[in-house]
Amino acid sequence: MPAEQQTFAIVGAGFAGAKAAETLREEGFDGRLVLLGAEPERPYERPPLSKDYLRGESDREAASVHPAGFYGDHDIELRTGVTATSLDPAGRELELEGGERLAYDRLLLATGAEPRALRIPGAELDGVHLLRTFADSDALRARLEGGGRLVVIGAGWIGAEVAASARQRGMDVTMIAPESVPLERVLGLEVGAIYRDLHREHGVELLLESGVDAFEGDGAVERVRTKDGRTIDCDAVVVGIGAAPRSALAEAAGLAVDNGVLVDARLETSVPGIFAAGDLANQLHPRLGRLRVEHWDNALHQGPAAARGMLGAGDGYARLPYFFSDQYDVGMEYSGYASADDRVVFRGDPATREFVAFWIRDDRVQAGMNVNVWDVAEPIQALIAAGGSVDLARLADPGVELSELAQVTP
Ligand SMILES: Cc1cc2nc3c(=O)[nH]c(=O)nc-3n(C[C@H](O)[C@H](O)[C@H](O)COP(=O)(O)OP(=O)(O)OC[C@H]3O[C@@H](n4cnc5c(N)ncnc54)[C@H](O)[C@@H]3O)c2cc1C
Repeated sequence: MPAEQQTFAIVGAGFAGAKAAETLREEGFDGRLVLLGAEPERPYERPPLSKDYLRGESDREAASVHPAGFYGDHDIELRTGVTATSLDPAGRELELEGGERLAYDRLLLATGAEPRALRIPGAELDGVHLLRTFADSDALRARLEGGGRLVVIGAGWIGAEVAASARQRGMDVTMIAPESVPLERVLGLEVGAIYRDLHREHGVELLLESGVDAFEGDGAVERVRTKDGRTIDCDAVVVGIGAAPRSALAEAAGLAVDNGVLVDARLETSVPGIFAAGDLANQLHPRLGRLRVEHWDNALHQGPAAARGMLGAGDGYARLPYFFSDQYDVGMEYSGYASADDRVVFRGDPATREFVAFWIRDDRVQAGMNVNVWDVAEPIQALIAAGGSVDLARLADPGVELSELAQVTP
């Protein structure tokens, strides 16, 4: 069938879905293009939701993926507030909330992930927040404006960023987590300790190697009860304990699902003609094996890669994972994929909070994190991609250009 008579559908009008729609038009797809989004807003980026937007320093427009007129101008049928409720891969049809049916020729699933909730007594109390959407961030922002004490459950990226934002807005903050240091799962003990000290210096009370048994209060949360029997009075709680891929639609349709929708290197699912991208996709990465990545950069690039796949073009998606985080005046970028117990080599003094940390296995760089040092993410990625063994003394020496180290022995 000629392309102009085909319908391509995208379920999930988040970052990956919106970038895929943009790419389909850029690459010349001239058929019908439908972008379905459960949320009421047009596609937006989520990083500001725990940072500047949460603190009231930026507006919704700044987080939008495209200007309002973009979708109409590019003949993209953006349907917001519409949930796809079921998928029939054999009949190539979606069912939408309300019963409407939408036939498609090619489909992209970009339904993202949803925050995990804590299933403990009091989890339903008013003032217990999750953070994923504009609506969630608005509700939390109102709490930050009200002052008082915020308890943050979890010391991952969302928890750490919310704690920083709440301190910056003048709230008292207690962070409770089972790990020994914030961000331990990704960064390991040594580098996580840098973030522990950072939060302490900014007045966050850290209850590490601890957990929560219950939230208590009369209608609204007033106290958190920890596993070791402490009670902490509070005005609000944020639960930031990770996210789960939103794969129910795919799973019910019989697509292969295992910690996300399984896709091959070209982002095609177990059903030909159906692709997945972004937080939802568990990809067979050409270099790193099975991998599901919950980062902004992954959505930015996998959406377009999946779009090219839908058009029958495109090679495997082989980018290295990359993400960034801002807490107080400490900004960082992390490239690659390391295990938290890989050996760490520092370039620069971590005490100054201007340094690069490298994670090393068998003398090879697996990942690098530049903290308040800029314009080095590309050479770090080149070094990881080169995959050769490196001289660790030279790696630690800021006088040696990273680009020199990338050309080392295999
Ligand atoms: C608060 C916060 C801060 C973050 N900060 C950073 C950061 O600093 N750096 C970084 O690298 N990453 C960050 N991330 C992660 C990054 O935002 C995600 O990786 C990215 O949003 C993934 O994009 P996506 O399009 O795959 O999914 P999403 O952004 O989740 O979009 C999926 C969309 O699909 C919709 N949808 C789901 N099911 C259906 C359905 N059945 N029908 C119709 N629509 C549906 C959802 O409503 C949603 O709008 C942050 C995330 C959050 C929540």
